[in-house]
Order: sequence, then C-alpha cells, then structure tokens
Amino acid sequence: MPSNRLYSLAKLWPLFAGAVLSSGLGYGCLHETKPADAAGVATPPASQPPGKGSMLATETSIPAASERTTPVASHGQLAVKGAQLVDASGKPAVLRGQGFGWDNWWPQYYNADVVRWLWEDWCVDVVRPAMGIEPDGAYLSNSAASKQRIEAVVEGAIAAGIYVIVDWHAHNLHEPEAVAFFSELAAKYGDKPNVIYEIFNEPEKDETWPQLKEYAAAVIGAIRKHDPDNIIIVGNPEWDQRIDLVAGDPLQGQTNVMYSVHFYADTHRDWLRQRTQAAIDAGIPVFVSESGGSDASGSGQNNFVEWQAWQDFMDKNHLSRINWSVSDKTGEACSILEPGGNAKGNWTPAELTESGKHMRNLLRSYCGK
Ligand code: MG
Repeated sequence: MPSNRLYSLAKLWPLFAGAVLSSGLGYGCLHETKPADAAGVATPPASQPPGKGSMLATETSIPAASERTTPVASHGQLAVKGAQLVDASGKPAVLRGQGFGWDNWWPQYYNADVVRWLWEDWCVDVVRPAMGIEPDGAYLSNSAASKQRIEAVVEGAIAAGIYVIVDWHAHNLHEPEAVAFFSELAAKYGDKPNVIYEIFNEPEKDETWPQLKEYAAAVIGAIRKHDPDNIIIVGNPEWDQRIDLVAGDPLQGQTNVMYSVHFYADTHRDWLRQRTQAAIDAGIPVFVSESGGSDASGSGQNNFVEWQAWQDFMDKNHLSRINWSVSDKTGEACSILEPGGNAKGNWTPAELTESGKHMRNLLRSYCGK
C-alpha cells in the first residue's frame, strides 16, 4: 500500500534519502494518513454528485496589487481570541495562502520574486516556507543554506506586506535544534507582525501528545523570550489529524497559540472535518497550515468535490488555510507548477498544473474579502 511504503521510507530517512534523491523521485507531499481502511473514511453524501468534480471554470479579475491594501496593513498584529484568529482591532482575521515545497528539494523557488508574484497575481495573504529538517542536505546537515532560503522568503513577505509562516518541516522530534532555530528567528524577526511560527510540521504516530506538549512548551518558551506576541502554531500526532487529543488536553498558560490541522481532500474527508469541528466547538484555535485537493501522498487526482467541502467548512468556521505547494514535481497532483515552472514567478497558465490553476482562481475569488 502506498501509505505504508511512504511511512517506511519516512522512518528510514537516513538510509533512503540519498537513494530516493539519486533516483530522481524526491518527495512531494509526504503527508501520511489515516489508513485507507479506517472506519472513519466516508463516502460523499448522496446530495453530492459522484466522481471527483471539476475545477473552477472562471477567473476572477482583481485590482492591481498597487491599489490593494496589503494584508499586514489591513490586519496588523494578529492575536487569538477564544478559538479565533483576530486582527489588531479584535475582528476575526482569515488568512488564505500558498505554501512552498521542501526548501531542500525546490530551492529555486525560495526568493522574493516568487513571493511578490504570489501576492500580486494570486492575492495571497500568507505564504509558508517549509524548511526541510531531516533529509540529507536539509537543515540538520546544512543549516546555513536552509536559513538563507527561509530568510529570503521571510524578507520577501515583509517587503510585500503579507504574513509568513516559518514551518519546521520535520516528522520527528529535534527539540534542541528547534529551540536554537526559533530562538534565533524570533530575535531577528519577532518585532515584525508578518511572522508566524509553526514549530513542528507533522508529528507521526510515535510522538505522543504529552511528548509534543513538552516539546511545544520548550520551543514556545524560547520564542517568547524574544517575541511576546506573534502567533505560534503547534502540531499534533498522526500528521496533524489528532486535533481531538489537543481538545482533550490543550497547552496551558500560553497566549496566541493555535493548533494545526492538515488535510488532503481525497483522503481526509468528513471524519476529519467532524473531528475538527468538535475541537473548534470546544474552544481550540485551528489553523489549516497545509492542505491539498489530492490524496495524502500527493499523487492520484484532485477530488474537487471533497476539496470544495473543505473550503465550505473552512469558510463557515473562519479558518485560515494554506495550500501545498510551490513545486514542479513531474506528475504530482499537489504541485502547483508544471516541470520547469519559472523560478521567479510570472507564471503563465501553461506553467500551472490543474491544482495550480484551481488554487490561483480560488485565492483570487477571495481577494480583498
Ligand atoms: Mg512580536
């Protein structure tokens, strides 16, 4: 089964990463999933048409970027009130945006030109650079190169006036390294309202929620020494799908903390929406910091029926959300770019994949709202 194969590869990174890279496969959306045979996987309700649906047919025209108020000018310093992300005046804020692929595999897109294009042409409120941690050549083995790529995107976001989530794109605990990294980041950028910290992308099955709470307390403590107020996003077990564990035992004594839910619409359906709704109803602030229309491996096809069900769910709950990812992996449904897509932005329709076109249209349809 593909998910088992990917899971095994993930656990054996040190052994396999080199072979995977040299084979040219690389990783796209490595987002493990509840097993396909899990009881919670639901079929679409009868009221919805069968099949995978279709992408948005029309393009929304938007004002030129120079005529728009930037997200940071309009929202300012973010905070959390109850379960809701709010702006500087206490009004609900919903950030919608696009995430980058692993920086170690798609370094060419980590530049201010791509950030500027996503703001100007896609009308994103937020971007999410994904700093790979474990693979060979990523942060743990070449931290200087990783920091340079992440900072290029952070600086680009500050220049454009949009928010930026710095994602520690790990699948296992590396607490001392994370404490050091986020401490340095917060000291450098914590006075900027643009920056949001995501301290652990996707824990797997072998990190327990109590372990993750301890990890979060340590990393949050390091950030708060330098930055008293910016938003911090905390991950939870099983690839950010155990938001129910968070709801039963949230962090105590922290401010401006949110919790991630990640979905890939063809895999994670009503069962995850229901679980997320229950957490929100219990007062848990949720940020959908990664998502896509395909299955959890990133391959297969986009399921537009389920993808739209998630959009409706997120709209109803005023959830902020990020799509995965700015990458050009051949044949991968969740990559927004066709192979060779321009590394400086300025993408033509021919350079965008089906999910790239869909997400661009979707983000434009929310522009200024
Ligand atoms: Mg601050």
